[in-house]
Amino acid sequence: MENEKIKQTSLEIKERFAKVNVQIQERDIVEQLSILVNKFRVPLNEASRNVTSRLLKIHNINPDEFFATAGFANQNPVKISELIEDNKWCSFNARVSILWEPKHEKILQTGVLGDETGTVVFTTWKSSGAPVLEEGKCYLFKNVVTSLWQERISIKVNKNSEITPFSGEITIAKKLVTVVGALVDLQQGSGLIKRCPECNRSLVKGACADHGRVEGVYDLRIKGVIDNGAVSQDIILNRELTERLTGITLDGAKEIAMESMDSRTVADNMGAMLIGRYFEVSGVQIEKNLIVDSIKPFKADVMNQVDALLVAVEA
Ligand SMILES: [Zn+2]
Repeated sequence: MENEKIKQTSLEIKERFAKVNVQIQERDIVEQLSILVNKFRVPLNEASRNVTSRLLKIHNINPDEFFATAGFANQNPVKISELIEDNKWCSFNARVSILWEPKHEKILQTGVLGDETGTVVFTTWKSSGAPVLEEGKCYLFKNVVTSLWQERISIKVNKNSEITPFSGEITIAKKLVTVVGALVDLQQGSGLIKRCPECNRSLVKGACADHGRVEGVYDLRIKGVIDNGAVSQDIILNRELTERLTGITLDGAKEIAMESMDSRTVADNMGAMLIGRYFEVSGVQIEKNLIVDSIKPFKADVMNQVDALLVAVEA
């Protein structure tokens, strides 16, 4: 019932403004929302933000004060597991678990945030003016908005959001997935790679999709495929795991690349070492990739006995 939702959202907006002592006619809000939603096909959550910012301007209200006092954002940070409703303003502390390469030019960063209760995907738009976040660091996210899409909650950072470093410790809850199988392939982007110093994206031919030609920062990683006949799983190993598994350090990889005058030699060497061997890998499944936490050799001769154990999921 679209109209029910519009009424409910209108009431919420009215109440928020009432908290800063501005009385607004509910039917005016309903009317504005209806035009945006029904005539212009704007999603309700966007329409709600649009109407709110218009009202802020009309009534000359400082948005920062409004969002701080109107209960728009929850003053007390919540836990990620509590983020279940669509289009809710919220605040929480989280650690940046992983950053992905943005697929759209308007996106500044996207990736996964986590705390001890769960994980959530986030997106910051360039237009939000949000700071660039670093993988592994903890931040306080204030006045961000939840968005429900295909039954999954994600977080949008907007112009009214505030992201500041958080000094506390946050351990991310992990839903571990374990897969046993042979490493059958190392994919493009394995071995010695360079990342953009601005956004951490891996460079293609020395250029960042976003920042163009930059002085890249070296990194090591493995993007591989584990296959056991029943399951084919893409896996990603970070520098630390790659170094431990292959015995090739970042400095060693640079030497190999220099000697052969080809950085691809590093991935070739790693492939020669690893492809065809069996491993037991555990990690966190994020979209199609398993972000590996631990990888250990697996004896192929016991493979037959472990058909039932191919994919074990721990809570
Ligand atoms: Zn970049």
